[in-house]
Amino acid sequence: MAEYLLRFDDFCPTMNHEKWTKLADLLDHYSIKPIVAVVPDNQDSSLRVAPEDPSFWNRMNRLQANGYVIALHGYQHVCNVRGHSMVPLHRLTEFAGASELEQRYKIESGIHILQSHGLTPQIWVAPRHGFDHTTIKVLGQLGITTISDGFARYPFRLDGALWVPQQLWDVREMAEGVWTVCCHPNTLAERSFDHLRAFLQAHHSQFTTVEEVRQRWSNRRRSLGDRIFDSFWRKRIVVRDLLYRVRQQNLAWAAGA
Ligand SMILES: [Zn+2]
Repeated sequence: MAEYLLRFDDFCPTMNHEKWTKLADLLDHYSIKPIVAVVPDNQDSSLRVAPEDPSFWNRMNRLQANGYVIALHGYQHVCNVRGHSMVPLHRLTEFAGASELEQRYKIESGIHILQSHGLTPQIWVAPRHGFDHTTIKVLGQLGITTISDGFARYPFRLDGALWVPQQLWDVREMAEGVWTVCCHPNTLAERSFDHLRAFLQAHHSQFTTVEEVRQRWSNRRRSLGDRIFDSFWRKRIVVRDLLYRVRQQNLAWAAGA
């Protein structure tokens, strides 16, 4: 039977607190322990969607105490580096292609900021999936050896890190595998929230935790099947993205007509 993990991205003091509070109540109801990806020093204006919450870091501490897994979500979430990511979905990212010196500075600063607020990041979530071998090397040297990214059916070990694949952006019934679903509380539509609620009601017992995943999959090597899945899944994402854009364009034309 499929197992699921939930991951919520773009946590920072100016996130949409209202939407998150609603989500957190739902997760607590089913005792789900998700990954929350925190931006240490947000400088991305697109993540300033609400007034700064002075209690943000205390709230993050409460989530951590409640068993949520804190992820290091880059440093400032400013994506202006051009390079080749190991999960190549975007051209400009915060890390892929940057020098080791720059990456070390960003990662070290990010970890220090989170630690200064009482948080211990356990896992890496790259803004826009952008990271390379250097990122993984530096993360490992600074104590982060789990990555939430990549496409495969099951977690695998590569470059000295445990990759917990993140393949989905909305919940849906899947066959065998460990599936991480990435949600963005800032932009979560009411319809998607209702869908998530219905899915949790039916499948909450299939939700696992990062700790369980680590215990079960830490020694699994990346297989040929994983590489085939990766190539297939990436093409699928490109096609879906294209279809989505065409649909949005058609809607825009229909609205303008
Ligand atoms: Zn992000």
